[in-house]
Amino acid sequence: MDGSALARQIRARLREEVSSMKASGVHPRLETIRIGDDEPSKVYLAVKHRAAHEIGLATGDQVLPAGSSHAEVCALISELNSRKDVNAILLQLPLPGHLHAPAILARISPAKDADGLTPENLGKTVYKEESILPCTPKGIMALLAHYGVALRGSHAVIINRSTLVGKPLCHLMVGEDATVTLCHSKTRGLSDLTSRADIVVSAVGRRPDFVLGAEMVRDGAVVVDVGTSRVGGKVVGDVDFANVSQKASYITPVPGGVGPMTVAMLLENTVAAATSQAGLARALAVRG
Ligand code: NAP
Repeated sequence: MDGSALARQIRARLREEVSSMKASGVHPRLETIRIGDDEPSKVYLAVKHRAAHEIGLATGDQVLPAGSSHAEVCALISELNSRKDVNAILLQLPLPGHLHAPAILARISPAKDADGLTPENLGKTVYKEESILPCTPKGIMALLAHYGVALRGSHAVIINRSTLVGKPLCHLMVGEDATVTLCHSKTRGLSDLTSRADIVVSAVGRRPDFVLGAEMVRDGAVVVDVGTSRVGGKVVGDVDFANVSQKASYITPVPGGVGPMTVAMLLENTVAAATSQAGLARALAVRG
């Protein structure tokens, strides 16, 4: 499953949408927040800003010192929540250890939640209500849909229970009638579970300690590799791609699979937020 190619198509569609929004006077803007000097965060944000600019979005990059207090971060979020020119807010994770991410994410207006990680938007995935979805699970679902992978009645094994990936993906897949087994570091008999699954999603990111090998996957399975690790200066996934791809019916590469889809979904969430805010503004103007 070629995430780069699908992400390119999505970005082309979004570029047209942004261009017509601008023609009607709406200028969508994504504002990111980085706290501290975490180097990978800087790299990820640079990629997100570049992708946003390529489709015509305006962006801003708010940087706070690593020692910022909970109150200081919340004050910045309140300011961005109330700024009319800001449509979407992304808080780059992880945060410095003294800050509690759920409490801070909860301060972002759900209507401007570019990453879909506020309690309200995450909660709506449980209720299967319309919401801004977390980017990585949303990107995985979009890839599976694009390649016609049937979820109804399928058994999916997800190796990850984080709030960013595994838990929301589990709700989205169950919502599409899959049977989902959510695994993690304490799961016993992981290979037994994965080797019976129709779909395996691996998001561990601990190469070489953890590798999803061909013996862990059945013939014809769909394999989604979310994990990213750096080995010998190269970015690699969790999956032994050379061998697992011999057995899988579909498989995502790393790089070029889930990563570009995650970024495309961030852009889609931003455009959707701007669209719905513009609609709301128009409705209020009409009502006077
Ligand atoms: P995380 O919170 O550290 O989650 C890792 C998960 O893997 C945890 O649930 C952990 O279990 C589980 N795990 C660790 N060792 C294991 C083992 N030996 N066997 C089975 N499960 C094991 O990290 P995350 O933020 O969810 O991200 C996970 C990976 O995905 C990272 O490599 C990250 O870079 C990557 N990622 C990629 C994208 C993308 O767009 N490509 C987006 C998001 C994340 P416990 O819960 O028991 O610790």
